[in-house]
Formats: sequence, structure tokens, C-alpha cells
Amino acid sequence: MRPSILDPLFVPITSLAGVGPKVGALIEKVVAADLGDRAARAGDLLFVLPHTVIDRRNRPGIALAAEGAIVTLELRIDRHQPPPRGNRSVPYRVYAHDDTGEIGLTFFHAHAAYLEKAMPVGEHVVVSGRMEWFNGRPTMVHPDHIALASEAENLPLVEPVYPLTAGLSGKVLRRAIGQALGRLPELPEWQDDAFMRRESFAPFGDALTRVHYPADPIDVAVEGAAWRRLAYDELLAGQVSLALVRAKVRRLSGRPLVGDGRIVEKLRAALPYSLTPSQEFALAEINADLADPERMLRLLQGDVGSGKTVVALLAMARAVEAGGQAALMAPTEILARQHLATIAPLAAKVGLRIAILTGREKGRERAETLAGLASGEIDIVVGTHALFQETVSFHDLVLAVIDEQHRFGVHQRLAITAKGDAPDMLVMTATPIPRTLVLTAFGDMDVSKLTEKPAGRQPIRTVTLPLERLDELVGRMLDAVADGQKIYWICPLVEESEEIKLMSAEDRFASLKPLFGDRIGLVHGRMKGVEKDEAMRAFKQGETRILIATTVIEVGVDVPDATIMVIEHAERFGLAQLHQLRGRVGRGDKPSSCVLLYKDPLGETAKRRLSVMRETEDGFLIAEEDLKLRGEGELLGTRQSGTPGFQVARIEVHADLLEAARDDARLILSRDPELQSDRGEALRLLLYLFGRDEAVRLLRAG
Ligand code: ADP
Ligand code: MG
Repeated sequence: MRPSILDPLFVPITSLAGVGPKVGALIEKVVAADLGDRAARAGDLLFVLPHTVIDRRNRPGIALAAEGAIVTLELRIDRHQPPPRGNRSVPYRVYAHDDTGEIGLTFFHAHAAYLEKAMPVGEHVVVSGRMEWFNGRPTMVHPDHIALASEAENLPLVEPVYPLTAGLSGKVLRRAIGQALGRLPELPEWQDDAFMRRESFAPFGDALTRVHYPADPIDVAVEGAAWRRLAYDELLAGQVSLALVRAKVRRLSGRPLVGDGRIVEKLRAALPYSLTPSQEFALAEINADLADPERMLRLLQGDVGSGKTVVALLAMARAVEAGGQAALMAPTEILARQHLATIAPLAAKVGLRIAILTGREKGRERAETLAGLASGEIDIVVGTHALFQETVSFHDLVLAVIDEQHRFGVHQRLAITAKGDAPDMLVMTATPIPRTLVLTAFGDMDVSKLTEKPAGRQPIRTVTLPLERLDELVGRMLDAVADGQKIYWICPLVEESEEIKLMSAEDRFASLKPLFGDRIGLVHGRMKGVEKDEAMRAFKQGETRILIATTVIEVGVDVPDATIMVIEHAERFGLAQLHQLRGRVGRGDKPSSCVLLYKDPLGETAKRRLSVMRETEDGFLIAEEDLKLRGEGELLGTRQSGTPGFQVARIEVHADLLEAARDDARLILSRDPELQSDRGEALRLLLYLFGRDEAVRLLRAG
């Protein structure tokens, strides 16, 4: 149960004064926390952090206030000049002065009663806003703040600026946040004394207050002391909870999976190639994990085309030998079918019984698969999110392989775990994730890497080409098709949008169709599953030779004899995506090329991305560059996937804190695995505050 001291923060935001259902819905939009399906709580508001400040400390006096500057003025009010009756286009003016000069304050569509009350004639009033000079006359249109001089200490001289959304004003949001802060109880310190001193950290509540009521711009700076303290708390919460989940998950298991090799040996013999050294090495690591009574939590990293699927298959075969079932989960249906297509022929040769389960399987077929999984007649199932559904139950799931992990969230990882008796887990990712991110998202997961590509691969020649030279390119593509080559042609959007005039896949298909005739195919995300399959099949078998596609083919599709990748509007794609797409070619033994078609003029970042693509094929280098260019949140796709973290912590700034948090989490749990001490109690508060209740629940469950 949640410690009751935190109850005030766990009320819905709509129970705060001034937050009705409408404002509540707007606030929910800006709450950075991944809410999942729960409503926003007061506590979530604490972590809606300002990204910058408006500095209102400049008090130059009227005469010296520069055009366009944000200034704060102390004025004496001289007179009000309301607009003539019935003429709303003339503004309401209030005239005032200070020692240096006179100013007219301007209000459109004003509420006279309000202005008269806020600025009584003869009174001293403090206003803050943007200075404007109109024909040599100083003015301020709609000051941001107006207060009687006697009450002016409440004016935010360093005003935090929050992320907003249409319809939500800064004032309303600030007020709600202020209330949430007011509900924050005095909390015991969870940080270590020595560490607090070394880092000059303020207590949690103080740091949070400082960020929301900054006295200086440094207070909201990511590298400032207040922010660092909060970032550390978040990272610590993340690392402690990952360590807890992991410890728990490991304890759950106790089932060594040892195969006798009868299926694996046959499979190896059936492969048309031998494994690369790093495939062998990864497999040995995985087999050791499977044989160990502790549960496996392993990340298999390997660049596009490095051959992860076969490693997964051999691991699954071992699990089946040991008497269990295995599941392979992919993020898209196309990819699931692709895996099935790769695996099925091999499986058939060695007598593995295999099935597919996606949203598309319906009716009798689906019922049969579900029955086969429940009875144990199916050894291996390949599928998508559909595998998480309640209706799916396994006879004995012992190994879950998750492909392209960064698209799945933590909840989903736990959901598949619940389908078995603590199944071993192998996560495969093609986006090489820098170590800091692995730590943040996965904690101390074991990592295997596929460092080389299968032998015989040719390097991919990458060129950039402005869209104006499209005709020239099309000519060369016609030659290539005549020469028997296969071409992917990627377009960014499915439909033409009014604002962004990007060539959509359908339009491009229509414009090239007369030239390529029935050698051209089309596949995009809005097509029905069977249509997609058919388009992919025709391309794979060479009936079509140029495939116009949206990014549905981004992940994992394998057509080894495709040799040309054209990416239209390459400037619109992120580096990771470009790298993934390019990885679709260069899989066979023929030389391949990648053409990045771009629209001039290129922005700085886009220019940099394209040149990185030209310079290197090394996925790890590209991932590091991507991290620099984009920041870590996007790289991991946390927004969609609900991976914890990244509310406060900015890994590129706080990598040192991440390392420290990891060491700390280890130390804490090695001393007190159940968090039973006083400090443990305090740490539970931290976990709840940062929304890691999953960890606490596991802990409580014993
Ligand atoms: P990834 O999933 O890592 O992007 P895949 O598993 O799709 O890569 O493998 C890419 C291609 O390489 C497939 O066509 C596969 O059959 C082939 N392949 C895998 N391992 C080897 C190997 N050791 N030698 C030759 N080809 C291999
Ligand atoms: Mg793959």
C-alpha cells in the first residue's frame, strides 16, 4: 500500500481549486509523465517543469526601458481613458508616470471594472511586460502582470515558463502547480548524507520549490543544482525499481532449461550458412542463461542485417528441447510474418510445430492456435501485441523473445512475462543503443552483441541527390530494373497533406506506374494485411522490381537480393530510421546503393544527418550521432513506449548521475533487499513519487 503521507498528491487534478474538467483535460495534455490509462494526479503536476524563465528583474524606469525589452516598472496612475461608448476597436488606455517619464498602458477589449480596481488613480502600481515605443511614446500593451505596489512582492520576477497547450494559460497552470506543491508533505530524506554534501543537494521539496519558484535563471537550468537533485532522484528511482523488478523476476524462476541438442543440431545442419563468431558467442551466452536456474534477462544488440533472427530461433529450439514453449514477438504484423516466413521452412525440417498470432488471425484459425498454445501442441508462436491479450494462454511458456524492443513498453514486457511461469526473456534490438540508454531503460540487463555482419556482405554506396534531379534518377532506375535489380523506394507519407507538400507513396506510384508498368508495386500502412502480404510476396519473388513503400518496411523486412534503396525526402527522416531503411539493402553478395533524395534548402540538422549517412555504415556511430542530434527521449521512442524516465533527467547532461544512481541502487539493494530500513521507507516514497509503483507492488508481493 502506498504510504498515506503521500495521499494528498494522489488526488485527481480536478480536485484542485480552479481545475475543472476542461482545464483538467488541458493539463493532462502537458503532464509529461506517461499516464497510461490512469488520470493525472496532483503529484504529476510537480514534474511539469519549466523549460525556461522570463527574467523580469530589469527595472530601468520608463525613459530608459528599451524597445522590446521585458521590464518591470513602478508607476503612479494618473488617469483612465476608456474607449468611447460602443466603439470596441479603440483600446482602453491608462496613463501613468514614474520619475523618468510617462507611459500609456494599452488594453484591447478591456474590462473597465477590473482595470479600475487593479490600477486606482493616484495609487502606486507595479507592472511587468514588454516595452514598446510608438512614435517616440512609450507604451506597454497588456502588461503580463499588474499588482498594487503594496502587494508587489508576489510578482514572479523570475517567471517560470511551462510547456503549454492551446487553451491553457501559464497563469492557470502555475496556479495548479502551486497547489500541488502546497500539498507536498515534509518527506524524510532518501539520499545519503555524504552524497548530499558532496553534490550540495537541497532536500527534494526545496529543490522542487526552487524550480517552480526560481529566484535566478540558474534555478531552472538543467545543469543547475536544483535540477540536478531532481534528476538524480528520478534516475535513482528508475535504477532502484529496475533492480527490484529484476531481483524479483530472477527469484521467481528456478527452472534450468537444458536441451539435449536433438533439435538444435538438426537446425544447424539445415542452415544454408554457418554462424558468425559473434552469433556463436551470443548463443553460448544465451544457452548458459537458459541452463542457469536464474531467470534470463538478456538484450541482444545487433545492427540491421547482423542475423539476430537465427540466434533467436536456435534459442527457442533449445527451450522446446527442454520441454517448454517459446514466443517471438514483433512490433508490426509485416515483421511477424517475415519472421514466420524465415522460420517456418527450417522449423518444418526439424519437426518444430509453429504458429502465428496477430490481430489478423480470426475465427477458426485463431481458435485452433489458441487451443494449440494452451494444450502445448504448438512449440513456437510468432506474433504481435495480440500475444498479450487475455484470451492467450500457454501450456508452458519458458522463453519470450521480443524483437525491436524499443517499440514495446515496460508494461507490455511485464504482460508477456505473466503468460508463463517467469519465462526467460531475450530482447532483440536493431537500433544500437548507447550504454547510458541501456542502463536507463533496462537497468542491469545482460547484453550480447553481434559485432560483425555475415560474411560476403558488400558495403553500401550512399549518395545524396536533390529532388530537382529526379528525372535523372528515374532514368537510372529504369536501367537498373532492366538489369534485373530490385529497388525499394520509400516515401514519407501515405496521403498528400495540404501543409506539407510531400510526395506521398500513392502519388509517386501513380507517377512512376506508366514508366515501370507491371514491374512496380506499392505497399503502405493503410493497406489491408492480405494486400500488404501480396505486395511483399510479389517483390520478394521478383514479379515486381521496384516497390514504392512507406516506412512500413522500416523494420526487419528481408529481401536479400534488393540492391537499391531510394529514400524520398530523406531530410524528413531521423538518423536511426534512415539507418534502418538503408539496412534493407546490402544483404546479399551484390554491391548495393542508397540514394537519399532531399529537398533544398536543407536545415543544419538535416544536413548533418545526411552527411553522417554518407560517411558511415556503423550503427553504433550513427546511434551516438543520433543521440547528439536528437536527445535520448526520442531515440528510444519513450513517448510512445512508456519506457520510464526522461521526465526530469536529461541523459546527455547527467550521464555522471546515471552511473552514480546505478551504483547507489546496487548498494542499497545489496544491503536491504526488501527496503525494510528507515531509508528503505524513504526510498519507497521516492518510487511512488516517480511513479514506479510497479516495483513497490512486486516488493510487497514478496
Ligand atoms: P537482423 O534481424 O539482425 O536485422 P536477420 O536475422 O534478418 O538480421 O538476418 C539478415 C539476413 O542474414 C537474413 O537473410 C539471414 O538469413 C542472413 N544470415 C543470418 N546469419 C547469417 C550467417 N551467419 N551467414 C550468412 N547469412 C546469414
Ligand atoms: Mg530482424
